[in-house]
Parts: sequence; structure tokens; C-alpha cells
Amino acid sequence: MKKIRTGIMGGTFNPIHFGHLLLAETAFYQFNLDEVLIMPTKNPYYKKLSNTVTEEDRVAMVNLAIRDNEHFRLSMEELNRDGPTYTVETLANLTARHPDHEYYFIMGADSLYHIESWRETEKILSMAIILVADRGSGTSSSLMSQIEYITDKYDADIRLLKAPFMEISSNDIRRRTGAGESIRYLTPGEVVDYINDHGLYREDTA
Ligand code: NAP
Repeated sequence: MKKIRTGIMGGTFNPIHFGHLLLAETAFYQFNLDEVLIMPTKNPYYKKLSNTVTEEDRVAMVNLAIRDNEHFRLSMEELNRDGPTYTVETLANLTARHPDHEYYFIMGADSLYHIESWRETEKILSMAIILVADRGSGTSSSLMSQIEYITDKYDADIRLLKAPFMEISSNDIRRRTGAGESIRYLTPGEVVDYINDHGLYREDTA
């Protein structure tokens, strides 16, 4: 039986922006996916969240950003789980509940460079195909070497995602907001309005 091809675009999404959305949209078409789960992390133990943002804010911004895209779906999989968020647990839970799905984990190049520091790397790579985009953090040849290294070491299935590079980061959006600069055209207009209406990131300087 043909499996349902499900992309997972995981992220802190603090806030979500056009770089994330374009990555997920490109993955959907390039790999003929049936759907993409946009999955906010609960507790990214490896980074500090802005003091002015709540989980509800991050979810509300994701909802606003994806509501006009019929193949994107908000997933509360990680937000509904307590404790630090580990991708291995997410994939184990999803594959146990949905054996008829095949999972494609979408990520930028930096995540692939760090994946060996994630909990149970080998198990993650046995449960999902990795779609990785070069976001300009390294040359393509260094990314290709990393793909080759991880593939050989873990017998992983890693495929190159050909997404246009957009120099946008959540960190820069927070910094600009804190400095009173415009964030228009970096994230959908509804997200810009949400940030302004709720006074998010006003204290952010870095
Ligand atoms: P994030 O900062 O919100 O970013 C989400 C993804 O979007 C990352 O893969 C990032 O790529 C990519 N991205 C950001 N800006 C982009 C742009 N302008 N163009 C193209 N791609 C862009 O989220 P995160 O905190 O890195 O987390 C990503 C996922 O990894 C989450 O699901 C998280 O739970 C998981 N994770 C798991 C572990 C673990 O299990 N131990 C540890 C760390 C992260 P880059 O990677 O290149 O920044």
C-alpha cells in the first residue's frame, strides 16, 4: 500500500517567517508530499525564548501564516508533550500511531551540521527521510560532504532540497522589532500585525 508522504517542518517559530514557509512549500512540490505538518517545538532546551512571547503567541502566528495554504497543517504533537522537546520522541510517537505514513523531516543546513548532537541521531535517521536545504551557512560542497558523511555513518536517506535562499531569521525579526524597525515583507502581514498588536519582542535587542 502506498504510504502517505508527510513532511514535518519543525521549528521554534519565534516568529515563523517567509524562510520557513518557502522551505516547507518547496519540499511539498519537489518531493511530491501529500501534506506538511508545521510543528512548533514545546521547549527548545538549546535556546532561550524571548520573555515577551508565549506558546499561545507562537501557535497563533503559525496559524495566521499557514491559513491560506491547504496542504499545510498545524501540528500540536510537540506542544502537547511536557519536558524538553526531542525529535526522536516525536518521530517515535508519530510512526507508532501512523504506520501508514512516511515521514520527511525538513531542515536547513545548520540543523544537519548539528544533528549528531541531537538525542539518538541514528534512531531519528531510521524513522525519517531528511530533506535539507542549503541556506548559505556553508558552501554547497561542504553541505554535500556533510550529507555524505551522515549518510554513510548512519545509513541515512538524506535528500537535497532546492529552495531559494532567503536571508531571513527569527532572530533578526525580533531585533528589528526591538529597535522599532520595519519587519514588513519578512513574514506574512497578519504575523506583522499580531506582533505589533500584542507588543511582542519590544524588549529584544540581540
Ligand atoms: P527554527 O530556528 O525556528 O528554524 C526552523 C528550521 O527552519 C530550521 O531547520 C532552520 O534551518 C530553517 N530556517 C530558518 N530560517 C531559514 C531561512 N531563512 N531559509 C531557510 N530555512 C530557514 O527552529 P530550530 O530551533 O532550529 O528547530 C528546528 C527543528 O529541529 C525543530 O523541530 C526542533 O525540535 C529540532 N531539534 C531537535 C533537537 C533534538 O532532538 N535534540 C535539537 C535541536 C533541534 P537551520 O537549521 O539552517 O537554522
